[in-house]
Amino acid sequence: MAGSAGSDFMIPESVVNRVRCCRCRGRLLHYEDVLSCESCEIIFDTYGAVPVMIAPDNPFFGGRDLKSSTASGFNERLISRVGRFVPGISLDLGRAPVMGQLRRLGRTGDGVCLIVGAGSETELLDFLRSCYREVVVTDVVQGPDVSVVCDGAELPFEDAAFDCVIAMAVLEHVLDPETVIAEFHRVLKPGGVVAADTPFMQQVHMRAYDFTRFTDLGYRWLFRRFEEAERGVSVGPGSALAWSIMYFFRAFAWNRMSTFVLTAIARLGFFWLKYFDYILARRPGGRDAAAGFYFVGIKRDAGQVDNALTAADLPKQFSGL
Ligand SMILES: [Zn+2]
Repeated sequence: MAGSAGSDFMIPESVVNRVRCCRCRGRLLHYEDVLSCESCEIIFDTYGAVPVMIAPDNPFFGGRDLKSSTASGFNERLISRVGRFVPGISLDLGRAPVMGQLRRLGRTGDGVCLIVGAGSETELLDFLRSCYREVVVTDVVQGPDVSVVCDGAELPFEDAAFDCVIAMAVLEHVLDPETVIAEFHRVLKPGGVVAADTPFMQQVHMRAYDFTRFTDLGYRWLFRRFEEAERGVSVGPGSALAWSIMYFFRAFAWNRMSTFVLTAIARLGFFWLKYFDYILARRPGGRDAAAGFYFVGIKRDAGQVDNALTAADLPKQFSGL
């Protein structure tokens, strides 16, 4: 049911139709600037036209101001400004193969894609919009492209609602990656595609919201219920070394401004290390020293025999030195 509020507060019909209660998957009633669950009667807030599908008793996000990244402390705004003056410290070599797989596996044209943890990657978003009929962008905070604010551990969507789920540089920021991956599996259609990248050798970023790292095999195990389409090094050893030097410099800092200055100095001095990744990321030893990994997988059709990766088979997946 659509509310009668002005257009600024109108949640688009496509979003209202798609979103469900994050707790019980009940349908939602839309009254002016709130949504309420028909079944369990949880009331959900909205930020203008964006529903905030986080239950008030959510142990991590409940009751927080998620209106902007700065309000909730997710963003390192001052530090990120370094990027305006000096070259980037790392190369993302995972994006091209991930896009290649999505182009190959994606149900081009008529599919629906879910982005969990949007950040501000317009290039990826534009690409996905070219591949899928609809792209639903979610994050735990409001952002320029975000259409639903939600927690990856309690996705407010029906089972098998999506053809694709994307989570780039997100899983290190969730408290319980296993739960989040189970949610990805649940909301994907059989045959649907998951694509995600996550750091291995990278220091703390996003301050108080950085919790986990994965080795290549640890990451493969996280996605054990998915058939592997491709996995590999997203950020290589050169970037890992450059990050390490930069954070060594930053360890001398005493406040945010000195962190900013030391970050700029380290980046100017050592950004060139990332170019070694073009050679090293492909080498077996490069996997052991990588800064991060990507995984693209497929949810098996329900009719298929379930031959998910077993613990006994996991070591055979090792491709380091
Ligand atoms: Zn409910």
